[in-house]
Amino acid sequence: MRLADYTTVHLGGPARRFVRAVTEEDLTEAVRAADSGGEPLLVLGGGSNLVVADRGFDGTVVQVATAGVRRGPEPGLVTVAAGEDWDAVVAGTVAAGLSGLECLSGIPGKAGATPIQNVGAYGQEVADTITAVRTYDRVTKEIDIFPNDRCGFGYRTSVFKRDDARRHIVLSVTFRLAEQSAARPLRYAELASALGVAPGDQVASTEVRSAVIELRRRKGMVIDSADPDTRSVGSFFVNPVLDGAALAAVEAAAGIPVPRFDAGDGLVKVPAAWLIERAGFGKGYSLGDGARISSKHTLALVNSGSATTEGLMALARRIRDGVRDVFGVSLTPEPVLIGVAL
Ligand SMILES: Cc1cc2nc3c(=O)[nH]c(=O)nc-3n(C[C@H](O)[C@H](O)[C@H](O)COP(=O)(O)OP(=O)(O)OC[C@H]3O[C@@H](n4cnc5c(N)ncnc54)[C@H](O)[C@@H]3O)c2cc1C
Repeated sequence: MRLADYTTVHLGGPARRFVRAVTEEDLTEAVRAADSGGEPLLVLGGGSNLVVADRGFDGTVVQVATAGVRRGPEPGLVTVAAGEDWDAVVAGTVAAGLSGLECLSGIPGKAGATPIQNVGAYGQEVADTITAVRTYDRVTKEIDIFPNDRCGFGYRTSVFKRDDARRHIVLSVTFRLAEQSAARPLRYAELASALGVAPGDQVASTEVRSAVIELRRRKGMVIDSADPDTRSVGSFFVNPVLDGAALAAVEAAAGIPVPRFDAGDGLVKVPAAWLIERAGFGKGYSLGDGARISSKHTLALVNSGSATTEGLMALARRIRDGVRDVFGVSLTPEPVLIGVAL
């Protein structure tokens, strides 16, 4: 088997060993066995945030395929097994009249990966609603439950993602949702406008879900086997967070107003897609092999069919260097890189 068959960008060589874990016991046992054998371990969800080397992974890959969604014991609490399909979870909560996840519709992958990079879109992130992340600790070999304030959530990050040793395996995630059919007040101007309302307004979660999926489809951000622009890891770079001096340098280089969002503490977040385009890398840009920028979204690097991981990384390096040369900003990758580096 090749890991290319398990990643949304359809890249990655073979794994030495591949285990599919359908119960929590299978999952912890497979992890324990790899650890006690001193074997490198890669925990695989839906493979939608992974860039794996062409030479593959010389160790054990454990695919998380656990199932189960449970409501209670308090109103609005929903506990989801790590292996549940994320979008099915969102669809289920919206259909059940629970709000809090509706803006996260259409995101690929499994529920257990959502706390890893604090999945977010259209003004919501899972940090807003997660109350607990139940994990298996590879060091103590015990269950360790992280309440929200121990998860160290930040923009596209958490304690789990920052930990290079990948100490904690997520077994299940508990969300506190509102028992109401109206979505949370809309924070994202593009989404509010698509719904014909103003930011801060509330509309039905079902409508928000449909609008988000429609917006995402137009950007190639919903996996569709018929659309090659969706063979990606989603956004390849995170939006850089800049201080006043870095922003002034970007403004001086751009010579036009720079779009920005408040990131607190006097910092601003600048859209990476804007910087990439202004640095000369437009939609469809390619180095001539099968890797290119999506024709729908500047932030997505896609495998048009014949790409290699090395080709994708070469493209990413060219973009990173070009943006740095023009604006002095170093873009950092959003996906988890396995056996490759930027
Ligand atoms: C088309 C597209 C659109 C996307 N849009 C968005 C978006 O809008 N917002 C956003 O935030 N992300 C987005 N993403 C990125 C991605 O979907 C999310 O990060 C998702 O949560 C990854 O889930 P996964 O199950 O595929 O994880 P994988 O890619 O399989 O794994 C990602 C990382 O999490 C680790 N991991 C996975 N499961 C576990 C577990 N149970 N315990 C411990 N570690 C684990 C893996 O080892 C790896 O380090 C998009 C991706 C694509 C392809």
